[in-house]
Amino acid sequence: MIDLVTGAAGFLGSHLCDALLAQGHEVIGLDNFFTGSKANIRHLLGDGRFELIRHDIIHPILLEADRIYNFACPASPLHYQFNPVKTIKTSVLGTINMLGLAKRVKARILQASTSEVYGDPELHPQPESYWGRVNPIGPRSCYDEGKRVAESLLVNYQSQNGVDIRIVRIFNTYGPRMALDDGRVVSNFIVQALRHEPITIFGRGEQTRSFCYVSDLIEGTMRMMEQEGTSGPLNLGNPEEITVIELAEQVLRLTGSRSRIEFRELPVDDPVRRRPDISLAREKLGWEIKVPLADGLRETIAYFKKVLTA
Ligand code: NAD
Ligand code: UDP
Repeated sequence: MIDLVTGAAGFLGSHLCDALLAQGHEVIGLDNFFTGSKANIRHLLGDGRFELIRHDIIHPILLEADRIYNFACPASPLHYQFNPVKTIKTSVLGTINMLGLAKRVKARILQASTSEVYGDPELHPQPESYWGRVNPIGPRSCYDEGKRVAESLLVNYQSQNGVDIRIVRIFNTYGPRMALDDGRVVSNFIVQALRHEPITIFGRGEQTRSFCYVSDLIEGTMRMMEQEGTSGPLNLGNPEEITVIELAEQVLRLTGSRSRIEFRELPVDDPVRRRPDISLAREKLGWEIKVPLADGLRETIAYFKKVLTA
């Protein structure tokens, strides 16, 4: 089995490469290194079954593969808003290129979609049948709408060209190899706590998120790729929801930090509540969360301690 992973040097992509190689697959990793880093995959470079190609998916590429995991796209608000037009191109042109490749070589393709397709939801928790509430002209739209178009591209390549597709909607996922400076809440709080700098809470911290540990997410993703008879979209995430302020308190407890809490302005269009309904993943994949938040945070804290002392 040859797997193509786009975004292979990123947080999720690098863990996916590890897991696919561990199953005995051959893996081709593509990345343009916008937010990813060689450090995330350096340990794979000596593996004869792993090949790394510097490539930007907004340009076509010809390769042989049986499976395509399309994970290339900046994922943190700070990164995807840095060059919003490029973010749209990655989700639209990049996904068209990967679908064209899937069609040509008859590969199955899985798209890393996102809970952001639900926008700032009125329905809670969010089932896959919910259409979402996205501001099409807001600062998050380059990411949210790009991912919505990508989903549409997949289902239309499926109906029009018979491409074998899978769509997973990933909710906030955290763990080792998140970028130190990507501005996401888990990495920000841990790094701030370890440096004894102020913990920056946006708004009053009453907004909620549901945090999934990376190993659970990767397992669900790989099961979905090999599952017959269902193409999704399918939610993957932790059904346990916590407020941002509760997360800050947990990080402070687990790090024993002297950091104090500082309140900052809430970013525009920041979703108020987010929690996946994972009934479909339970039914179709028999998938459950295995790693409790406290355990996952301990692993992530240990990782950032190493990075900060290196
Ligand atoms: P990340 O930023 O760590 O990884 C993204 C990778 O894609 C990076 O290595 C980056 O260099 C690469 N990339 C970006 N644009 C590219 C392009 N045009 N061509 C080639 N490579 C490109 O982010 P992540 O958290 O690992 O997210 C991976 C995927 O999962 C993204 O598609 C993201 O939208 C999706 N996702 C992640 C989360 C999460 O909580 N981590 C939630 C929902 C969806
Ligand atoms: N957040 C925060 N402080 C930070 C970074 C983020 O309070 O230093 C908040 C942010 O406003 C949002 C939540 O944490 O309500 C999750 O933010 P993140 O960027 O990690 O993910 P997303 O908003 O895409 O779910």
